[in-house]
Amino acid sequence: MIDCYCPVCKHRTHHQVLGEGKNLSPEDDYYYSATYRVVKCCGCDHVSFDLEVFEEGNVEYDQDGNEVIIPVHTAYPVKENSIEPLRSWEIPSLISRAYSESVEALNNGSLLLASIGFRATIEALCIEKGITKGNLEKKIDELSKKGIITALDCERLHAARFMGNESAHQMEKPDREHVLTVLEVINNILNNLYIIDKKFKEVIEYRFKNYDDFQSLLEKGIDEHKKGDEGTVYLFLPERKYRKEDLDKFEDELQQRIANKKFTRLSVLPKKPESKFRQGYRVE
Ligand SMILES: [Zn+2]
Repeated sequence: MIDCYCPVCKHRTHHQVLGEGKNLSPEDDYYYSATYRVVKCCGCDHVSFDLEVFEEGNVEYDQDGNEVIIPVHTAYPVKENSIEPLRSWEIPSLISRAYSESVEALNNGSLLLASIGFRATIEALCIEKGITKGNLEKKIDELSKKGIITALDCERLHAARFMGNESAHQMEKPDREHVLTVLEVINNILNNLYIIDKKFKEVIEYRFKNYDDFQSLLEKGIDEHKKGDEGTVYLFLPERKYRKEDLDKFEDELQQRIANKKFTRLSVLPKKPESKFRQGYRVE
């Protein structure tokens, strides 16, 4: 039984040792031992891997002044105190690639690489939002002006020292706390832009202001389809939750307008069995 970090319980717990092997330094040499163990958490049964290293250089003294070698434990695959990146399919891949590699660099202690990566993450966000002109400082201002990030997040990004430096050789060695704070700001931005919004749209029903609001959303959707495409209103409306009563009411009006030739961009299909819940339409 040993004590080591469990990535599921997220703290040190008792672990049962399922198997182990040891590498030792050659005799009379600098003392070094590395024990590799497959371990199982006694709290949650999660199986992981623990590396225990004893090294001559890593000593402390006990109460009687005797040297005691302090073991260093490393857990795999998730290290103690490692940072979990935001995971969401909703973050565009251009941004998420730079972002996850930067978090990985941070977890490996590569602070300079992590900070260059976070700069690249913000650059990627700007590209994704169509902001391509000027240096990064100007682009960050533009993100704020367009209301994509808050004025406060804009201020925080400017305050991050390495954000203003154009190339790696201008950078001082960043400290971990500083990089962690930048990560927090970036998490906040990505959360607001991509994750909360997605959850919100899944959970909160959209309320049409009136028939015109319904029709204008519908028309935007029709613009993205070609003549002959067929589907229910769900094909054309943005992917969100809608109240059934709203759709019933506005579709009645839509069908009247189609019948009176006041709305000619769609025609009404004979009802098909698979769309028994909603009327089918065809793009004209
Ligand atoms: Zn556990």
